Amino acid sequence: MDDHNQSSFSEIVQINKEELASGYPKWFRVVECLALIAFFVSTGIILYRIFLSIPDLWYLLLPASLLGWIFSDFIGGVVHWAGDTWGSVDFPIFGPALIRPFREHHVDPYAITRHDFIETNAACALAGNPILFVCLFLNMGKDYKVTSFLIYFVFFMTIFVLFTNQIHKWSHTPNPNRFLKFLQNTRIFLNPEHHKIHHTVPFNKYYCITTGWMNPILTRIQFFPRLERLITKYTRALPRREDIGIKAAEKLI
Ligand SMILES: [Zn+2]
Ligand SMILES: [Zn+2]
Repeated sequence: MDDHNQSSFSEIVQINKEELASGYPKWFRVVECLALIAFFVSTGIILYRIFLSIPDLWYLLLPASLLGWIFSDFIGGVVHWAGDTWGSVDFPIFGPALIRPFREHHVDPYAITRHDFIETNAACALAGNPILFVCLFLNMGKDYKVTSFLIYFVFFMTIFVLFTNQIHKWSHTPNPNRFLKFLQNTRIFLNPEHHKIHHTVPFNKYYCITTGWMNPILTRIQFFPRLERLITKYTRALPRREDIGIKAAEKLI
């Protein structure tokens, strides 16, 4: 990666934004479309099973959806942290497909507002598909309360995770409509001012982008810095090596 841009900010070094934008592979677009189809087929089947079970299991709806909403913030945050912190766009397959969007978002935060529905959301569908597939084979009904709850929870969580990046995109949209503004101001959706904390160099906190509710909690317990220290200890990998450059990343250790 020879033609890095030196940003005006001290030792932060990032990849050229045009290079990142042009790195969206055509083959991954096909994978994304297939992932979205598989996602909607799986969730459609599960929704039908939930609908049939509601007369016996209606009381699971509220706790499963609330837990799904909170967990989608957490899971989205962990995936965002992993994508921001580790790996390189030069990795085969994963680099251009899955790591590149994270690097691009820090160099050009408004690029996401130009992405269509597939580019914005399909990677989240891809991540949710394996667990949805497992749920298709679990028993459901009043005699299987534990697995029923698990299916309800996974259904809501994956639906919310699917829209995590959409909600994130709206937090960067210059003039959201009044309804979106209401949801952002009430913190039901990620609030743009809250999200600005993540976009402050060196981009190492407030990774949760659905509601952002988990951000102060995870910051307070030093969740991500502790995890990074543990990973660095056992792998010698340098967190944010590519995102902000080696010099700045070493300073943060
Ligand atoms: Zn980020
Ligand atoms: Zn953002």
